[in-house]
Amino acid sequence: EDEIPEDHPRYQDLLTRHRIEKGVDKGITHLQGMHAEGRGSAFDYLLGEETIPSANDAERAAAAELLLAERPVLSINGNVAALVPGEMVDLADAVGADLEVNLFNRTPERIAAIASHLREHGAEEVKGLEGDARIPNLDHQRAKVDADGIYAADVVLVPLEDGDRAEALDEMGKTEIVIDLNPLSRSPQVAEVPIVDNIVRAVPNMTEHARELAGSNEDALRTIVDEFDRTKALEAAESRIRNGL
Ligand code: ATP
Ligand code: MG
Repeated sequence: EDEIPEDHPRYQDLLTRHRIEKGVDKGITHLQGMHAEGRGSAFDYLLGEETIPSANDAERAAAAELLLAERPVLSINGNVAALVPGEMVDLADAVGADLEVNLFNRTPERIAAIASHLREHGAEEVKGLEGDARIPNLDHQRAKVDADGIYAADVVLVPLEDGDRAEALDEMGKTEIVIDLNPLSRSPQVAEVPIVDNIVRAVPNMTEHARELAGSNEDALRTIVDEFDRTKALEAAESRIRNGL
């Protein structure tokens, strides 16, 4: 990160790319994570590399949804761990959620590497190492989750999630919050709260909203959730990408 000049016009994007490269080197990010990063970067460029107003609304609704949840879980994959490990720990802390490592390309080595990476960034308990329950209608490896984690969760935050898994979690009746820069991808399409924003901006902003909303009563939180219009948010993001400002 020290080699990237801060005044470079694409500084933030280069930094993000570099973090994914380092994640691959450290064995926490799969090589395919580089491709996901490239796709995300193209969409972010078209969005103007900023949190658009509809994304901010989604981030606030997501914070309210997580505060209302009985058993909220934040899902961590290799890209999430490489980009926002400390920020995910902060969000979990702000909303009282568990962190669960949940990988598309699941290997015990990578799960263990991500869990210790999260602990280095302040996490106490990390779930996902057991893999003692299955999401219905998915093939064996991709279905594994913790029985007392994602399997039992009522609200799950799944950033950069694969479309099949997002659909399968939706079919389980979970309230899904998805962070994905592509509003046309299936994962945001099935989410109750689709957040079309870069995860590096989205997660700290959710935490800020959560801290601000922490003293609110249930009715006030419920109103924020009910007033959020997922269809409008997806349309606003697509319109920004296609037409610009
Ligand atoms: P599918 O339709 O099956 O989901 P896909 O092209 O979306 O296919 P994924 O593996 O789901 O394949 O791609 C990763 C997704 O993550 C992409 O939609 C990409 O825009 C998004 N993404 C990548 N980096 C970021 C980031 N930093 N913040 C938010 N979203 C990101
Ligand atoms: Mg996708």
